[in-house]
Amino acid sequence: MIHRVCPQCGSENIDFEIGFITGKYKCNNCGYVGSVIFELDDKNLEKFRNELKK
Ligand SMILES: [Zn+2]
Repeated sequence: MIHRVCPQCGSENIDFEIGFITGKYKCNNCGYVGSVIFELDDKNLEKFRNELKK
């Protein structure tokens, strides 16, 4: 399974917002807004979250 997560906090609580030119993602957990989002499988998600905790 692929998870779409916030690159800042690792949350899956993401909304996709359509802008004038490009869509942007918004994280409801930390307030991150941007066009970059991480798509990770179960294993990489766990690894990413462990790295965020450091
Ligand atoms: Zn976030």
